[in-house]
Amino acid sequence: MERVVFTVTDLKQYAYCPRIVFYTYCLPLVRPTTGKMEEGRLAHEEARDRERRRTLRIYGLEEARRHFDVPVASEELGLSGRIDLVLEVVAEGRTSGGREWIPVDYKQTGRRAGPHWRRQLAAYGIMLEETLGGVVRRGIIYSLLSRRVEEIPLTPTLRREVRETVATMREIVERERMPDPPTSRKPCVNCEFRRFCNDVV
Ligand code: SF4
Repeated sequence: MERVVFTVTDLKQYAYCPRIVFYTYCLPLVRPTTGKMEEGRLAHEEARDRERRRTLRIYGLEEARRHFDVPVASEELGLSGRIDLVLEVVAEGRTSGGREWIPVDYKQTGRRAGPHWRRQLAAYGIMLEETLGGVVRRGIIYSLLSRRVEEIPLTPTLRREVRETVATMREIVERERMPDPPTSRKPCVNCEFRRFCNDVV
């Protein structure tokens, strides 16, 4: 079996329910279509337009270069993604090998970052370092609803959690093992895969 390259969307969906990763890769033809993705894309485009007019002070920075829609990947993890915004911290006397990047992820919510968002940011950080070199010490979640910025330090623990999560996802796909449903049935209520999970309805 060819090694699967997961996306950050898979990581996000795994946090929602591990079964979605199983359906996506082991039964790819059952995937229903949804309008949610298109809505999300439009919201992100608007956010990008506003970002161009915003000062960097909201991120606590005097100077930085903005890079939009940055494609990143990690050979080591077998993971790829596209980051809404990457801030390249500009500091005098810093050599290119010591460049600092800050991934910024836009969220369509006013809630504070839960563990899965933190892991997503850490995944971006790992991929940025592998793709562009330099260092990622922190990431930022920007809430499109509250317009609030939350800084997340990319700790070794968070990085380890990303590696462990991707390893578990890989095991599910390679062994074609359907995971148990989530303990709470709340995610099932609006789940696009609901009709395939006869044991939860
Ligand atoms: S219906 Fe529930 S168990 Fe099935 S994929 Fe959706 S969230 Fe998971």
